[in-house]
Amino acid sequence: MTAPQTLQVNNRSYRWMRHPVVVICVDGCEPAYLDAAAQAGATPCLARMRAQGADLQADCVVPSFTNPNNLSIVTGVPPSVHGICGNYFYDRELDEEVMMNDPRYLRAGTVLAAFADAGAKVAVVTAKDKLRTLLGSRLQGICFSAEKADQATLQDNGIGNVLELVGLPLPSVYSADLSEFVFAAGVRLLQTQRPDLMYLSTTDYVQHKAAPGSAAANAFYAMMDRYLAQLQEMDATIVLTADHGMNAKHGADGQPQVIYLQDLLDGWYGAGRARVILPITDPYVAHHGALGSFATVYAADEQEAARWLARVRGLPGVDMVLTRAEAAHMFELPPERIGDLVVISDRHTVIGTSSARHDLSGLDAPLRSHGGLSEQRVPLICNRPVSGIAHGRRLRNFDALDLALNHAAS
Ligand SMILES: [Zn+2]
Repeated sequence: MTAPQTLQVNNRSYRWMRHPVVVICVDGCEPAYLDAAAQAGATPCLARMRAQGADLQADCVVPSFTNPNNLSIVTGVPPSVHGICGNYFYDRELDEEVMMNDPRYLRAGTVLAAFADAGAKVAVVTAKDKLRTLLGSRLQGICFSAEKADQATLQDNGIGNVLELVGLPLPSVYSADLSEFVFAAGVRLLQTQRPDLMYLSTTDYVQHKAAPGSAAANAFYAMMDRYLAQLQEMDATIVLTADHGMNAKHGADGQPQVIYLQDLLDGWYGAGRARVILPITDPYVAHHGALGSFATVYAADEQEAARWLARVRGLPGVDMVLTRAEAAHMFELPPERIGDLVVISDRHTVIGTSSARHDLSGLDAPLRSHGGLSEQRVPLICNRPVSGIAHGRRLRNFDALDLALNHAAS
């Protein structure tokens, strides 16, 4: 098959690659992690990439959560187009909290699948399995998770015997090893299969526990750096970005700073009037207790919500309260998948539902989390110089593929 010059995907155009392209989403990579690791001399390859390539920052999608941002990066468009704006939404008609992990909630095709359809060899490796089916939606290629690497088969994942290929044991889902497995798999895939386009997505287990500059954080980035060096050696165009940043969400006493919004609304207006949904909630909550800086509120009667606005806005620790229409517009979200109000807490505060519904016993370190505007800045780094970026353009993390394919020097 002759490769086309460009592909149109979701109304953006992408040039065919001249080198293998590797886009890496480092989960929870607050820019301060990279700066601190660089200062400690832990990341020589990354230092070279930043000096010789493009050292940029970008805005992620709000809610600054994992799934909306990973899906934005692989589709090149915001949640208003692809539909995935969190892990959960509330379906009023069904009166059900619906999990959005299923590809049927995805409304846009991925750039990855489009390139594969046009003849490119494409590979996707994720840390957690929850992202695999969304990222691999309609993808003809390799797609597996580190979490279930032992179960990958040629038929279902486009590749079998992954543990043997990677040469590492199956990692625990709550470990730094889960992300290391993703990088190691990326290197081995590039060595053995040389995919034209690869997407690697890690997990923020380390970032939820360890602050920038801490020994554990620097060790994580030193590990990443060793794999970056190997990818770099194989002539790949590498773009590194993040799904969201990460901040300490606790007070000086080490206790989480939480606004229990469901408890407050129930107390003010009576039980059953408001339903608070935390779209960060997922099956793996031990490291953040399902506490993030973004919540959405559904009112029993939609008119009611507007009357709650001022009072919620006045709560200490609240950064912003928006109506559905305002939030959909400002953050490019699908209005039918968010509540009547969107509530965002500040840099060091998270939002919960009812205190009784959050099990914080799994928190073995002071809470660090994300979800708000304070976690919107993320790195956008390319190992090659980039050109043709309009002056003053607001870069997004979902410009990663645009940067790699359309702007990186070849
Ligand atoms: Zn994440």
